Parts: sequence; structure tokens; C-alpha cells
Amino acid sequence: MELIDTHCHLTFEQLADDIEAVLARSVAAGITGWLTVGTDPQQNRKAVELTENFSNMYAAVGIHPHDAKDVTAETLTELKELALGEKVIALGETGLDFHYNFSSQSDQKQAFAAQLKIAKELNLPVIIHCREAFDETIEILDRYGRDLRGVVFHCFSGSAAQAKIILDYGFYISFTGVVTFKNANLIREAAKIVPTDKLMLETDCPYMSPEPMRKQKINEPALMVHTARYLAELKQMDLTDFADAVTATSKSFFDLP
Ligand SMILES: [Zn+2]
Ligand SMILES: [Zn+2]
Repeated sequence: MELIDTHCHLTFEQLADDIEAVLARSVAAGITGWLTVGTDPQQNRKAVELTENFSNMYAAVGIHPHDAKDVTAETLTELKELALGEKVIALGETGLDFHYNFSSQSDQKQAFAAQLKIAKELNLPVIIHCREAFDETIEILDRYGRDLRGVVFHCFSGSAAQAKIILDYGFYISFTGVVTFKNANLIREAAKIVPTDKLMLETDCPYMSPEPMRKQKINEPALMVHTARYLAELKQMDLTDFADAVTATSKSFFDLP
């Protein structure tokens, strides 16, 4: 079994301080590839640097909606330069988060649209963070995201109806361990309608360990095996077949060898 954690934050100190051991546990669990995702200029630089030390590790660079208020012309110029890096395979995470509103909604929309423009110029797929802003996210993607190379909604926490809208656009959906939570019926209903050729897996670690490890405070890539097992069962598939299918999806989406 070979799985790829398509969205983790390995540069966050909880994981970075112990990275060799974190990756060793991951490989032992069958998670042999990682996409570490940047959220602000400093994390983006760290992500690109970290990938230089590990062959199956790739980076995404982007400005999280929380940090949209700090985006300047220079931020975007540097982002574009970093995005040209050899191991940078996606733009993100970017999108809208109206749950916390750490940045104003208009700043978030502006930063999101600007990053979609960069993704288009560089022909990179985009990792979308969307929380309590579904209609607005779709509206911006509808306007600026039509001819992007690929779009994935990460840490999907919406309904089956929303999943259907995403799939109708030809976009992809990625699930974290949240789908294993007791109260996640809505997300489970959504997962049922996402075919494996549009479905990817992630931890979004260090946050949100899946059941039955939910009590483990610091999530890490190794624990993604629980999410994989859970979703395989939900889809009444053999774990290996399910893993092979979603790994093939991830590789083709991110254009990995
Ligand atoms: Zn996110
Ligand atoms: Zn994230």
C-alpha cells in the first residue's frame, strides 16, 4: 500500500522539530509521500526548504485566508517566485474562511482571486480552503477558476449537495480525519457520492487526529491510515484497492511520478 498525504503542515513546529521520526512512522504505516502546504510567506519558504531534504516530499505555496489582510504586491511577487521551485506542485492553501474572519471578507476575496491568477499563469493546480463561505468560493472560482489546471477543496466539511456542485465543475475533493468523527454524518453522506477518481486523502496535521486516535493531540501523516481504512469501508472497497485508486488520483492531479 502506498498513500500520499496531500495536505499536511510539516513545517509547523509540532512536527518540524521531530521530522525524521514523524516521517519514519509515516512510511511504516504506508504513507510514503507528502505535500507540505504553506500558509504565509514564512511557512512557504520553510516548506520549499524542507522538501530539499526528502525525495517524496513536495510543497504547495499560498496565503491562507486568515492572512489575506497582510497581502501586498511584494507578497504576491515572492509567492510567484517560490511557486516556480522545482518541488512546488500546487498553489495553496488559498480560499475563504468566514468562520473566523481573521481577515476582512473583501481582503480574503481579493487575495484569493490574485492567487488564482498566479496559478493560471504558472499552470499549477490549486488547493482551496473553504469554511462557511461555500457560495462565495464557488462564485470566485466560477469567475476566475474556469481554465485552471485543477482545483481541490481540501478538508471538505460540506454536504452531499455541495460536493455535487464541486464535482459538476470537474473539481476534486479531499477528506481529513474529520470524516471519521461521530458527529460527521453530513460529511459521510458527501464522501459516499465522491468517486475515487475525484477523491484524495490528507491529514491537515498537526490538527484533527482521526478516530480512533482522536485523543492524540498532534496529528501526523501516519494516522492517515485510519482515514483511509474508514473511507474504504464506507465505500465497501478493499483497503488496498481504495488506496491504489486515491493514490492514482493524487498523482495525476498533482502530476507526480
Ligand atoms: Zn485549510
Ligand atoms: Zn491546512
